[in-house]
Amino acid sequence: MAWTTHEVFNQFDELTDFNLLTTDAALGEALQRAGAQGAVPALTAYGERLGCADTWHLAEQANRHTPVLHSFDARGRRADAVEFHPSWHALMALYRAQGLIAHPFQSNDAGRWTAWAAGFYLHGQVEQGTLCPATMTTASIPVLQKEPALWAQLQTPLFSSDYDARDVPLAQKRSIWLGMGMTEKQGGSDVRANTTLATPLGAGGRGGEYLLRGHKWFFSAPMCDAHLVVARTAEGGHACFFVPRWCPDGSKNAVHVQRLKDKVGNRSNSSSEVEFEDAWGILMGEEGRGIPTIIEMAATTRLNCVIGSAAMLRQATVQALAYARRREAFGKRLAEQPLMRTVLADLALESEAALVLAMRLAEAFERDNSPAQRAWKRVMTPAAKFWICKRAVELTGEAMEVLGGNGYVDSSVVARLFREAPVNSIWEGSGNVMCLDVL
Ligand SMILES: Cc1cc2nc3c(=O)[nH]c(=O)nc-3n(C[C@H](O)[C@H](O)[C@H](O)COP(=O)(O)OP(=O)(O)OC[C@H]3O[C@@H](n4cnc5c(N)ncnc54)[C@H](O)[C@@H]3O)c2cc1C
Repeated sequence: MAWTTHEVFNQFDELTDFNLLTTDAALGEALQRAGAQGAVPALTAYGERLGCADTWHLAEQANRHTPVLHSFDARGRRADAVEFHPSWHALMALYRAQGLIAHPFQSNDAGRWTAWAAGFYLHGQVEQGTLCPATMTTASIPVLQKEPALWAQLQTPLFSSDYDARDVPLAQKRSIWLGMGMTEKQGGSDVRANTTLATPLGAGGRGGEYLLRGHKWFFSAPMCDAHLVVARTAEGGHACFFVPRWCPDGSKNAVHVQRLKDKVGNRSNSSSEVEFEDAWGILMGEEGRGIPTIIEMAATTRLNCVIGSAAMLRQATVQALAYARRREAFGKRLAEQPLMRTVLADLALESEAALVLAMRLAEAFERDNSPAQRAWKRVMTPAAKFWICKRAVELTGEAMEVLGGNGYVDSSVVARLFREAPVNSIWEGSGNVMCLDVL
């Protein structure tokens, strides 16, 4: 458009309308290495869908129009409902339809973990907030599989690729999402400091009913159909409870959302503070075994942090390269300036290294029956989370700088990645905690 005072030139839009998979040779090679060729057609279609301008727009909208909490309905009844922009639902539906929630648990195909990781990596380049409930849902599956009665009830809606956002009891849902509640005000890293108290309704024990009283200081995605919650019992120490949003008698469970967090990034996702006012739950595993259950889930959620941060690095690099190849300064394209070339080369190197490590880690989850792979996975999960998540904080900033002032404008893709990056370092075990975990 010609303005009256000047002509706009040497300005370039962010890169959209490209296939995220076919333009990523390293990702294609990772899929081949893992024997996941069978997944390539579906992932290619997903890469095309995610890369189109419409999907980038959805991501921008979902992070601009953040979730809103409605504590009560218009007549004063407790609602604890979170309202999302339609773009959030569209992105959640996209991920769900791809079958990515349960893929590694639904098939025995070679490369299933890598195929799943590739889908997560593609989605994470465009929108990360939706990956929070997705991660928690996926990570809850191996834990729920150990509880036969619950699993019989939940397998079908967990495996479903049909997005169902309705806030209705579990039995009526076509598909469900799960969250996790560990962190309390007095401590998140040290889950043993949890004070939320679970009291048995009858004899208690595995599969028994309990009432939970206490709080969680961080409780993401409170609209999930259930959360796995750590609480202590009077006798047995810490335990893990399945706490649905609705009780079996059709009443809303007493999980009261106090407020939503006002966050630096991860804005599309709702993270809440909750109080349990005798919330109904079912004991999973044995009393006193809550921490090992959480650690089992954390292995998967930490893998997701690694893949998610590698995804941020990739997209930050792609956007930086695309911009530098078009933008000119001092008579040359930025990408032709010697110093800028070294910046871009460093970004590309770290991005590809992060991808290779993330995919190698995903493969280790598949080869879990080998003691050597298990040991490698045990050490490399926290090590990779420490390194890649921290590097994403630094390098999304570097990529932002490649775009100069345009990168710092709130609606830019690199700005969103920059705001998002630190959270992967913090949640699911912060940096120091990862170091201690390796030791
Ligand atoms: C957006 C967002 C969403 C979240 N969603 C959820 C959720 O859904 N469910 C949930 O349960 N939690 C959630 N969390 C909480 C998150 O998991 C915790 O913030 C995290 O585990 C750290 O706990 P903390 O905040 O209590 O920090 P602290 O435990 O107080 O730790 C503070 C710092 O001290 C360091 N530290 C701790 N112990 C040691 C030690 N022994 N030696 C050296 N350093 C140490 C940590 O690495 C950290 O850097 C969320 C957090 C965020 C930011």
